[in-house]
Amino acid sequence: THDIHIIGGGLAGSEAAWQLAQRGFAVRLSEMRGGGETTPAHNTDALAELVCSNSFRSDDDEKNAVGLLHHEMRRLDSLVMRAGEVARVPAGSAMAVDRDVFSAEVERALHDHPNVTVVRERIDALPASGQTIVATGPLTAQSLAESIVAATGQDRLAFFDAIAPIVHRDSINMDICWIQSRWDKKTAASNEEGDYINCPMTQDQYRAFHQGLLDGEKTEFREWEENTPYFEGCMPIEVMASRGLDTLRFGPMKPVGLDDPRTACPEFPQGRWPHAVVQLRQDNKLGTLWNMVGFQTKLKHGAQVELFKTIPGLENAEFARLGGLHRNTFLNSPMVLDRQLRLKGAEHIRFAGQVTGCEGYVESSAVGIMAGMMAAAEMAGREWLSPPRTSAMGALLSHITGDAEAETYQPMNVNFGLFPPLHDVKKKQRKEAYTSRGKADFGEWLAQGALVPA
Ligand code: FAD
Repeated sequence: THDIHIIGGGLAGSEAAWQLAQRGFAVRLSEMRGGGETTPAHNTDALAELVCSNSFRSDDDEKNAVGLLHHEMRRLDSLVMRAGEVARVPAGSAMAVDRDVFSAEVERALHDHPNVTVVRERIDALPASGQTIVATGPLTAQSLAESIVAATGQDRLAFFDAIAPIVHRDSINMDICWIQSRWDKKTAASNEEGDYINCPMTQDQYRAFHQGLLDGEKTEFREWEENTPYFEGCMPIEVMASRGLDTLRFGPMKPVGLDDPRTACPEFPQGRWPHAVVQLRQDNKLGTLWNMVGFQTKLKHGAQVELFKTIPGLENAEFARLGGLHRNTFLNSPMVLDRQLRLKGAEHIRFAGQVTGCEGYVESSAVGIMAGMMAAAEMAGREWLSPPRTSAMGALLSHITGDAEAETYQPMNVNFGLFPPLHDVKKKQRKEAYTSRGKADFGEWLAQGALVPA
């Protein structure tokens, strides 16, 4: 018998299991690897396998959002951080680990724990009852994915992420760009001025940009990704560019109905349409992050930065994330989950990890910690108090559970664009200001009893 069933023994599932077990709850942790199954990305049967790089990224908790997340996870007795310290290898200011030592350490801690039972089995359907955490990751087994779709609706679970680059709003040059919706069309949700930031291009700039898309170095699809169909709407921008010089001007770079105010003249008092336009649309409720509409891409990250900075108005752009296209199973969490990561309409089921639409080892683990703490509080009959919005965990959780735009929801790493903005602090000091505010508020949250064992 168990108090809670966790499905998926990756990073998030292992963290959630640890948090619950440490609070005295009996956990059944089901992991399909080791039971005759695997995923296209995993190579071992170990719990919490790191499928690609061996890095938890920056460990700088003074200037870096993921470093701040490390700090908060350590304060919550994270198993991933514990095992990470044991397995740590030199990597400058980053935190990198020996992946085999790391996974072995996670596995040992859970196997040795009297409250955890690890079962090597594939779960094919969402349980009808009983406290459950689903942490099956970006490569959730097909049978379970189908069961999730049956519970959430067809278009609420994605099988591919098609990520357009996301830019920090305060790095866009508004002396060149302007805000306007095409034909000034508005909906009830529209902003007064318009909903898009428009970057204008001349014919020469467009031609050079088009050539840059064709020439830029691309990442290859993995063999197992090639057969996962992507929708026409998710086509990489460079594939569209390869169909003809003007294809993009009839697609995402269409200039019609967009009047560049800097070209206003007596004949065109509102301004003229540029040759081509790159549009950005608000990506979070705070208005700090804007995505480049239709710019999902397989260009390598270096090539993206180089090329996208040639777009007029984006010459100093800071990217909260770069574009990509991968196989990735994730929920439209802002629509289907409540603020406690519970599936609306089936509240005994929580989701955790990358399947909620966070991205990365560290973020997935952090969401695993929170799911474990939430479930523990619920089973103990205590109220769960969310971590403050100003902390890395709180910012990430708020994004997933409602602050992100549901329409364009795509996986996201933790970054300062998810934090309530500090406009009054000078740009140079802003990163430190985010982390010191976050640490102080997080400390206060802990002092209010967040860590109380059940
Ligand atoms: P996972 O760690 O994938 O764990 C999910 C677990 O659930 C797996 O062990 C799986 O076997 C199990 N499972 C699935 N379905 C079932 C089922 N029905 N029943 C039982 N068990 C099931 N992130 C980074 O930070 N850095 C990187 O370099 C990086 N590279 C990546 C490369 C690839 C190819 C992929 C696919 C992802 C990469 N990621 C990377 C993202 C990374 O996978 C996730 O951030 C992280 O592993 C997610 O943690 P998770 O616990 O949500 O999922």
